[in-house]
Parts: sequence; structure tokens; C-alpha cells
Amino acid sequence: MVSTPLGRKFFRICGVPAFDPDGGFVGYRGTGTDATKIKEIEIQLRESKLAAEAANKAKSDFLSNMSHELRTPLNAVLGFAEVLLAGYDTPLTEKQRGYVDHILTGGSHLLDLINEVLDLAKVEAGAMTQEMAAVNLGSVIEECVSLSSPIFAKHEVSPVNEAVACNATVLADPQRTKQLILNLLSNAAKYNRHGGTVTISVEALDDHFHRLTISDTGQGIPIHKQDQIFKPFNRLGADKTATEGTGIGLALTKSIIEAMGGRIGFSSMVDEGSRFWLDFPLCDNEVESPAAVVIDGMSKIDSHFDNGLVLYIEDNAANVRLMEALFEQLAPMRLIAANNAEEGLNLARSSQPDLILLDINLPGVNGFEAIARLKEDALIRHIPVIGLSADASGSTIERARNGGFTDYLTKPVKLSELVRTLSREMEYKHVSNQ
Ligand code: ADP
Repeated sequence: MVSTPLGRKFFRICGVPAFDPDGGFVGYRGTGTDATKIKEIEIQLRESKLAAEAANKAKSDFLSNMSHELRTPLNAVLGFAEVLLAGYDTPLTEKQRGYVDHILTGGSHLLDLINEVLDLAKVEAGAMTQEMAAVNLGSVIEECVSLSSPIFAKHEVSPVNEAVACNATVLADPQRTKQLILNLLSNAAKYNRHGGTVTISVEALDDHFHRLTISDTGQGIPIHKQDQIFKPFNRLGADKTATEGTGIGLALTKSIIEAMGGRIGFSSMVDEGSRFWLDFPLCDNEVESPAAVVIDGMSKIDSHFDNGLVLYIEDNAANVRLMEALFEQLAPMRLIAANNAEEGLNLARSSQPDLILLDINLPGVNGFEAIARLKEDALIRHIPVIGLSADASGSTIERARNGGFTDYLTKPVKLSELVRTLSREMEYKHVSNQ
């Protein structure tokens, strides 16, 4: 809606100041053009830009809230499935392990989807974060090839994994690495020909990078379309075919690999196929398997802390039950719980726990207000507090780190990660008490 005042005209004047013989200013001499139309267009553009920015922010907020709402129940689904699979109470039968595996695979896939939608919003808002770690490329590729088997079968293509024995360790965010590889594998299957192949290989480059290449035997990309390939929502004409897609995968892949300090590239020949590659910076550390981390973390806790006490402040009953199930395995360490901040702070004063796990999104007094109150209370301000929340946005993590939390874990919390954090915090406390 253009809001130039009704009846008002705008002129663009091109002229010079004019003076009378005594040197008095009399006005401008020159030409003037009616610029009302241009002014109206300018105002219209400015208003459209403001409206687009507001819509974009509303979209990002909506996606972020949706992600939070979906992650919270997934925390219980994945967490309990992990507890069941670990067979703490009674070992599962082969058949039951198969069922639980399905829950974990389906739940993880759902989580990946949610993350992807959120990622796009984050990329648009320029607020994407990575958790860099040592990643063994060979095992991630193997996992991705196996996860992609339904899409290979659907498009009747065969994977050729030449990286089976690959031992290359790169520095990357493990979750995002999987996401990138899955995306390229899915494209290599979708834009392939029936009976074609998808070949995955890894090679060391001279400049301290490892290159992961995914080649297909598909339709290829015409030269004149190649400069459009990383533009979001541009499907290069695939939108007129039956091949499903959104056109954001490659744009997201490029943003993520570059944010991790890596590179992406491709070459393609029509009717011969395409090769997409990801270059990851090398990492010299060894990679631990998640199972090893859990066992290692638990034994450390057992050996150092016979009577550790942890207070969990959380309003979601399923999350509390999940934590209780985990702590059964960590005996003699004990867990006590409170379902709101006020009760939690009272319990902290009376029972003096070694550590507090504090949910951020509590009804009433939220986690940030709770930690501020704790820090003002001489009786309990020394107790380390770990924040737990389904909100994975960079700004909340930043706020938690600045707000006095010792650490911040996002839900769904991986049990291995939680045990590692508990182990680190309790060990630190043990050392400083000696
Ligand atoms: P989507 O696959 O969801 O459309 P992408 O961002 O992953 O989105 O890819 C953008 C476009 O690039 C695709 O729509 C397709 O036209 C083209 N493309 C991607 N990968 C390949 C490939 N391996 N072979 C041929 N064309 C491809």
C-alpha cells in the first residue's frame, strides 16, 4: 500500500541557486521533473522490504517453536529406546532388539528432518552453530549408505562403496556430516538412471583436506544450468518432473560444509553423470565409538563418586522417568527431582546436591530466572548447574553460557553425552574437594 500523502507532488529539481543584483537569494534556476511516480515506487519498495523482513522473522520464530515442540517428545522416544536397547533391566530378545532398532532409526530420521527445517531457518537468519569433533569418515559413510538403501532400491540404483576400509579422521560436526552425505547420496539416486550406480570414494588431498566424492551415472547437469545449482529453491527444471525434492538440499549442503571450514564442488556431463565432492579438514585425534564413551564415562563415575547426589529440575514427567532409568545404572550415585524451579531451589538448599540438571523451559520461574536466584543464594551458589533444553538455537545456548550455567545440553540428550558431562563435572568437584 503506497502511502504518499494524497494530492502531494514530488519534483526532482536540477538547477543552481539564483541571486538578485544585490546578492540576495531568489531561488533556483533550472529544470524540474515530476518525480511523484518514482517516489511512490520507492515507498512501495521500502514497505514491501519491511513486510518481507517481518514475514521472514515470523517464519523463523514459527520454525524454531515447532522444532522445540517436536524435539521434546522425541527426547522421550529416543531416550527410552536407548535404555531398552542397552538391556539394563532384562536383556531383549533378538526380535525385540529389531523392534527397538526400528524405533531408533525412525526417531532419528524424524529428528534429522526437524533439524533440516530448522537449519534452513537458521541459515536464513545467519545463526547456524556447529559442534566440531573428530569424525571417522569410513564409518559415517557406511552408516549413510545403509540408511540410504530404501532410496537406492526405489530408484533401482546400486551403491559402490569404495571407502569401506577408509580410516580417515576429519574435523567436522558428526550430525551435519551425516546430513550432507545423505543429501548427496539421495540426489545421486534420484537423478540417476534405472540400473545405474552411485560410487562413494575418499582420497587425501595435498592441502590437509580429505575429499569425499559421490559419483552417479545419471542424466548430468547441462552447462548453462550449472551456475544455478547452489541457489536455494532452484530445481533446474526438476520441478517439472516426477522426481520429488524441494531445491534446498544443495544450498544447505554448501552453507554447512563451508561453515565447518570445508569446501564443496562438482563436475557433470549430460547423459554421463555427475560427481559431487566435499572436502573436509583433517583431524589427527582418534575417534571414540559412542558405546565406548558410555562405558568409559560410567566406570569413571563409579570409581570416583560413591555417594554423588544430582538434583534434576524438570516439569516433564517422561523426562524425569528417563533420567531415573539412567541413574539406576549409575548407583550408588543418586537422583532427586523437582518439577518446578521454586521446589527445586528449596530442595537444593536442604539436600545440598553435588550437581543440578536444570530444564530451561519450566512453567512459572524459568531456568534462567532460577539460576539467577541460585547465584544470589550463598547456601547454594557454589553448586554447578547444567542447563537442559529442547531449544537448540544459538542465541539460547549463548545466553545459557553467559547466564552462569556450567554447561548446556540440548534435548534429545544422547545418554553418552550426558554421562560424559556428569563424569566431567563430578570428577572436577572430586579433585577440587581433595
Ligand atoms: P532437490 O533435489 O530437492 O530438488 P537440491 O538442492 O538437492 O534439491 O538440488 C537442486 C537441483 O540440482 C535438483 O533439483 C536437480 O535438478 C539438480 N541436481 C542435484 N544433484 C544432481 C545430480 N546428482 N545429478 C543431476 N542433477 C542434480
